[in-house]
Amino acid sequence: MNRKKADELSKAFRLEVAQSRYSAWGNFYGLVQFYPCALWDRSGYIIFNDENELKIPGISVSKRINIPKRISLLNGYKYVISDTYLPEELPDGIEYQEGSVQQIKVNRYERDPKARADCLSHYGYVCRVCRIKLSDVYGAIAKDVIHVHHIKPISKIGESYRVDPVSDLIPVCPNCHAIIHLKDPPYYPHEVIAMLH
Ligand SMILES: [Zn+2]
Ligand SMILES: [Zn+2]
Repeated sequence: MNRKKADELSKAFRLEVAQSRYSAWGNFYGLVQFYPCALWDRSGYIIFNDENELKIPGISVSKRINIPKRISLLNGYKYVISDTYLPEELPDGIEYQEGSVQQIKVNRYERDPKARADCLSHYGYVCRVCRIKLSDVYGAIAKDVIHVHHIKPISKIGESYRVDPVSDLIPVCPNCHAIIHLKDPPYYPHEVIAMLH
């Protein structure tokens, strides 16, 4: 399951790697035999070019790669997905600040990395509601920070539905996305555009 997800992510982001592994919380199961290897978590990835690069303090490699401190803290980590955590995905025993978990009910089309990548390559990283590009506001560090919103109401989707990344998805900034999802079914983008002063 995680292995398939890792492969799909590496493909969607066009990484030239021999193996990919995914873990939300730092346990990458399955021996890595081929390099370069991409390790993914829910926000991004890090590439190791050979096994020597894995010999860093805090990483243990046996039948699985264990990185308790999160790959996002390692040098070379690339942040590419600004997904909002879903409360039900938080593992037990992890403490988080109240308010740090936004309850945006994103649907699976908004979480599909391939559809997201296709949507962003068409529209770019500009919010289609407020027209803000976060890198213009915060600098280069925010260049990959954008959400992708699925416009079509889930109630109007049949079983054979396949998401069209250009007509069904739009890039939106996290603020506008939160406003869009203030009701369920969500506001249409034009309704939120009308709210803007
Ligand atoms: Zn916006
Ligand atoms: Zn949305």
